[in-house]
Formats: sequence, structure tokens, C-alpha cells
Amino acid sequence: MSIKYPDTQLFLNGEWRDALAKESLEIINPATEEVIGKVSHARKEDLDIALNAAEKAFNSWKNVSAYERSKILRKAADIVRSKADEIATLMTLEQGKPLVEAKMETMGAADSIDWYAEEGRRAYGRIIPSRAPQGVYQFVFKEAVGVVAAFTPWNFPLNQVVKKVAAAFAAGCTAIVKGPEETPASVAELIKAFDEAGMPKGSINLVYGIPAEISEYLIAHPIVRKVTFTGSTAVGKLLASLAGTHMKRVTMELGGHSPAIVCEDADVKAAVKILSANKFRNAGQVCISPTRFLVHDSVYEEFVDGFVEQAEALNVGNGLDEGVKMGPLAHDRRLTAIEGFVSDAVENGAKVLTGGKRKGNKGYFFEPTVMTNVSNDARIMNEEPFGPLAPINSFSSIDEVIEEANRLNYGLAAYAYTNSAKTAQDLGQAIESGQVSINHHGLGLVDTPFGGVKDSGYGSEGGPEGLDAYMTTKLVSQTGL
Ligand code: NAD
Repeated sequence: MSIKYPDTQLFLNGEWRDALAKESLEIINPATEEVIGKVSHARKEDLDIALNAAEKAFNSWKNVSAYERSKILRKAADIVRSKADEIATLMTLEQGKPLVEAKMETMGAADSIDWYAEEGRRAYGRIIPSRAPQGVYQFVFKEAVGVVAAFTPWNFPLNQVVKKVAAAFAAGCTAIVKGPEETPASVAELIKAFDEAGMPKGSINLVYGIPAEISEYLIAHPIVRKVTFTGSTAVGKLLASLAGTHMKRVTMELGGHSPAIVCEDADVKAAVKILSANKFRNAGQVCISPTRFLVHDSVYEEFVDGFVEQAEALNVGNGLDEGVKMGPLAHDRRLTAIEGFVSDAVENGAKVLTGGKRKGNKGYFFEPTVMTNVSNDARIMNEEPFGPLAPINSFSSIDEVIEEANRLNYGLAAYAYTNSAKTAQDLGQAIESGQVSINHHGLGLVDTPFGGVKDSGYGSEGGPEGLDAYMTTKLVSQTGL
């Protein structure tokens, strides 16, 4: 689909408008490095409009029945589906991922809205039996937490927003979304869908600007009652501490460094196929991307050979082109970071079997890269690489691999391949991670909780837990006069 990339405005109190100070930032297509548009850049006076609108809208939206809210959300999901080709094209232009992945993300966003439209109708309270012989009723109610400030990144422009706002709206909250400055247009289409579906004026607001300036202002502001952030652990810690100072509810979906364990009794071919596809999906810019590949000595060579073959067969190019399986990195900061991870690994003794460098000199493309003999002193074995790099090391015992899997302070996702039910059970229990997927890639569906432990954050998005994150619990204990 050929499409003109639009400039993106702010959405404040039900109106698309430029920032009051008329400032804007440029948007770059990462596949061509061309400036394709701009995005309005909010300052405090714009944020004040959003805050007041979200507060006013909350006072009515929280009283709309879950049944009516559900109908509006379902309509928004249908609008997203009906515009999926257009939204996916915008996403590929601004983010770089292959069109097929962008379309899947868009359809997945619609599914997430539908799921929360239903789940919002099941926000049940309960009645607790009283200690009194009769006449005392103890009711537990779930209530919407209030105005939400949501901070979302560029790697999954739609998915990261929808998991927050669909749950928030279903719960009866209103929101101010600070979207990703790199990928604003697809997010704006999602917000438009909610608006066109009938969300009340002011209930959803979209801003862009200087992330630190916006987060400092919104998190501290008394109107905001809930903060939700997806991004790096370093920034997450900063925002969580600010939220703590102001006693705000928080969900933090932060970085990961997922171990991918392949045992001696695994189906190695299946492991190679599934893990390589997921390593290079979205050019590795995925928080649950398999990162530390740990393969048993006895199948190591077979796994490495298979993985290199898959990496070399990948068609890397402009995500708009037919047959492309991996696009560019999303921005030039990632290119510099990925080059740094590779040179540091090599300095620490790693062997690059394939890839290892930028592809071409136009666009932020990086070759799918496989490395072996990677020292645990190398940065890539300790920091989230967020790129198409696969370090593959070997292990000889389950105890050893569990120790390595749990070595880092991250705990977002982990993968294991084994044909032994006992090993599967042992790994599922011993690995310190919010999510463990065994013998397949089974994470990230809206029906299931998605979240980390340790430095990977706290709280879950997806599943009933994702709705609960936007609700408070109230006890009303009552008796007759
Ligand atoms: P970054 O840490 O500057 O930004 C990450 C995200 O956080 C961006 O969306 C950014 O707008 C936002 N952000 C940064 N500072 C902020 C602040 N003070 N207040 C509010 N939001 C803020 O770095 P980057 O170059 O964009 O990405 C680099 C790293 O971020 C990656 O290596 C990865 O670890 C992490 N990241 C994680 C996810 C994820 O899904 N968990 C997504 C994107 C980036």
C-alpha cells in the first residue's frame, strides 16, 4: 500500500492540534535515513490541557457501565482492524519492521482491545462472610484507579500502548499517553480509533516531547494516580523512584536478558528454527528476545551450525519490500550500541561466525550476527543488547545452566528445549523469571500475564492481572441502622 506519511499532532481534550509553542521533532525512516515527517512536541502548558481533560473525563467514564464501555472498546477494535493495512504501512515507514510483522502487531492490538472489552465486564468484587451472627455485610469492590500516565517505547508502537490503555479504559480509567517520539503516526491511528469509537472527550490524550520533561511533570502531578512504563531498566528505576516519592501506583515493564537453554535431549532442529526466528524478529529489539543461548555440549555444534545457516538465509532489507524478514534497527542510537556490543565481545575473546557489522551505508541495517566463545565479562552477556546478536555458549550440566540463567539481575523471560518432562519441570521452577516458555515460543498473548521479576520490573500486562493493575480494592462493611 502506497501512503503519504503524515505529520503527527498532539491529541488533547478530544482535539488534534499542534503544541502551543509550535515546536516539533523530525521523524526519520530507518530504512532510508530520510526525514519523512514531524511530530508535535508538548510542553507543560500542553500537558496541563491533557491533565485537566483526563480528570474531567474520568469523573464520567468511571460511571459508565462496564457493558457500555465494552461496546465502545469493541468498536475501536473493529476500526483498528479495518485500517490495518494503512496502520501497518505507517509503522514500517517509521519503525522499520517488515510489513508482515507490522500487520500482525496491528491485528494483535485489535485482539487485545477485544479481550479487555470482555475482561472489563468481569471485574468482580466479593462478599466476605461476617464474624457477626447476622446483619453485617462486608463488600469488596473494584474501582478504577484514576488518571493514568502511560509511557511507551518505539519497538512495538501499537502493542505497547494498547496493553496499557485497553486495560485502563476497560477498568474505567482515563489516560495520557506519552508515545514514542520515533514512531508517532501509527500510535496516533490507534488513538483515533478509540476516539472514533466513542470514547468521551478528554478520556484519551496523546503527547510527545522530551521524555524526561514529560515524565517528571506528569508523575509528580496530583491528577495522575497510576504510572505505567515500558522501556529500559535504568529509566524504569528513575520513574519508579519518582512515582514512589508521590505514592503513585506503578507498573514497570523493563528490560530482559533471556536465557535460551537447549538440553541434550532437545529437538535441536525445532529449537534452531523457533529460537532463530524469535532472535531476529523486529531485528532483536524485543524485551523478551532470546539473548543468552546456552546449549548442551553434546548438541552444541549441531545447534550452532543450524543457527548460522538460518542467520545467513535471512533476507534483510526495507520492511516494505516483499519477502524481507528483518528490517533495519529503529534508530541510529541502536546502530552505535550494537556495534559497541560486538567490538567489546570480540575484545573479550568472542568469535564472530556470521555478521558482526553494519549492512550497507544507508539505513540502520545490521547483519544477523552469531558469536561463540563469548566471555561472561563481555558487555553483551550482562547488558540487554536489544539487537540482532546471538551469543551461543555451551554447558555440561543442568545445575550449571540454571546458575548461569539466574546469574543476572534481569528476570523477564526464559526459554528451554528438552524432551524430558522432569527437566522441563525442574527448569520451569528453578529459573528466576516472570515468564518461562518450554519447547515453543508461547509468550506475549493478551490472555496471559506478561511481566518480570528482579530488575525487569513489577506488575503484569495481559491477563486478568493486567486489568487489576488499573483498579483499586475498596471494602465497604455495612449493617442496618
Ligand atoms: P532510552 O532508555 O532512552 O529509551 C527507552 C524508552 O524510554 C523510550 O521510549 C524513551 O522515550 C523512554 N524514556 C527515556 N527516558 C525517559 C524518561 N526520563 N521518562 C520517560 N520516558 C523515558 O533508550 P533507547 O535508545 O530508546 O532504547 C534503548 C534501550 O531501551 C534498549 O537497549 C532497551 O534496553 C530499552 N527498551 C526496552 C523496551 C522494552 O520493550 N522493554 C523498549 C524499547 C527500549
